[in-house]
Amino acid sequence: MVSKHKNNKIMNSENKITYSELIEALKKDNGKICSSCTKHDYSSWSNITKDLDCELEVIGGVEESEKAIKKNGYTEYHPDETNYWSKDAPVALEFYPYHESSIRRCNTCNALFLSYIEHSGHLPQKRLRWIRKKLLYLR
Ligand SMILES: [Zn+2]
Repeated sequence: MVSKHKNNKIMNSENKITYSELIEALKKDNGKICSSCTKHDYSSWSNITKDLDCELEVIGGVEESEKAIKKNGYTEYHPDETNYWSKDAPVALEFYPYHESSIRRCNTCNALFLSYIEHSGHLPQKRLRWIRKKLLYLR
């Protein structure tokens, strides 16, 4: 369930971001178009480009993510008939795949993203989604 072989993931998990820190940090994103991160192209989960992968700073993991992974496994959270690919799907930090994601930041516009490695396909794919504050779901 948890990928153990990704070095950067092990490093990231050292630095845990609390929900309140995340909410504070999200206020710094004005939502305007940014040519560095092209965040509007990542309103839903998409494969990250190599360039963008280098560009976005990794700032850490979400607090209590191990607990959330244990509790919810691969369960997704979609109360309003959204699905994994929906642009308006809730960013539910305790649920798959958000609970196994790292938080990343664009240093140009301060937008925050989540990224994780998708293993269900033929080749692992690194997926990225821009976090919009209004979609954040916290218990
Ligand atoms: Zn940006």
